[in-house]
Amino acid sequence: MTADPRLTPTQTAPNVDELLDTLCGVVRDFGRHAFDLSRQDARRTQQLFDQWAQHLASGVEPPGGVGRTGTRRDYPGLRRAFSQHRQAEHAELGQLHDALREVVWAFVGGLNRLVTDDAADDATVTASLSGLALKLGTTAPLEIRSVALEAVAQVHAVFEARRARQLTQLLSLGEKLEQLGSQLETARNESTTDALTQLYNRRAFDEQLVRTVELASLRAGGAALLMIDLDHFKQLNDTFGHPGGDAVLSAVAQACVRVFKGKGDFVARYGGEELAVLMRDVDVASTSMLAEKLRAAIAALEVKHDARVMRVTASIGAAYWTRGESAEAWLARADAALFSAKGAGRNRVVTA
Ligand code: GH3
Ligand code: MG
Ligand code: MG
Repeated sequence: MTADPRLTPTQTAPNVDELLDTLCGVVRDFGRHAFDLSRQDARRTQQLFDQWAQHLASGVEPPGGVGRTGTRRDYPGLRRAFSQHRQAEHAELGQLHDALREVVWAFVGGLNRLVTDDAADDATVTASLSGLALKLGTTAPLEIRSVALEAVAQVHAVFEARRARQLTQLLSLGEKLEQLGSQLETARNESTTDALTQLYNRRAFDEQLVRTVELASLRAGGAALLMIDLDHFKQLNDTFGHPGGDAVLSAVAQACVRVFKGKGDFVARYGGEELAVLMRDVDVASTSMLAEKLRAAIAALEVKHDARVMRVTASIGAAYWTRGESAEAWLARADAALFSAKGAGRNRVVTA
């Protein structure tokens, strides 16, 4: 048998440097293309695997390996980290697929029931009305009223039952959607993030606003919206310069994220010096309490820039979503509340 002509003698012996380089690249890429898991977000995974790659390349301490520096590489540790992460991804993806499948089937089943139940209702209503027509032909004039009322009651009962059924189906679909939880929320990536504040951008907010209304319509828990506008920001820019203003904006964004760190909280830069917050599963009282907490946190900020200290306040408009309200109408109410907060002297919360 002749040797494979594509393999030269040097290629058959493993080149350790080349192997190590490749392994580093694989480890780095694995982290770079990670996705958010419930117990660890993609950014953290990227950091961890970057650290592993550095450990392989130059012997710096591996993640979790206190004092483990030098020339010896922790290959078993890397294997364990890789394997554990992959298993976590596998388990979570499996759960997500199951939950998605359930939602789709619940939806298909619900539609199917709507169609068949409606057909049965139509048959009942038709029978009731034709019975009425028949009786009207033979009933004495004085009894017509009671015959008609009986038919009306039958038709009414059919529609009431239909409405109750539809409500039950909607609520059950809402519960299934809930199981999808945070996976349904916008994945954070560059196209949805604002560069200066690292908050969600306007595009992401517009989408999330509509989604929040859709989800709230299906579920029992309420939703709230805050519109936040920094006070006299033009003046702050004039005094400290645009970079100073930028530093204040970033600090306010961080303060906002510190107050609204719940799973259902969504913080975005609405535009310029305006931020917006969406909350799920909150009541009116906690909405006002959190809005006030944010106002106080912003007013307490001391932002250092060019050896000077800058302070800022914000006006906040809060609106609690009311059942049946459109996204536009909800936003308009929050905006109107913000306008009132400005008119009433700024640095305050007005609830619509
Ligand atoms: P009010 O209390 O009525 O809100 O007054 P204001 O000065 O904050 O409002 P106005 O709308 O007059 O001015 C907003 C200012 O925000 C003007 C604009 O230059 C500044 N601004 C918008 N975006 C940015 C930004 O990204 N960085 C900085 N530094 N300033 C910004
Ligand atoms: Mg403004
Ligand atoms: Mg302003």
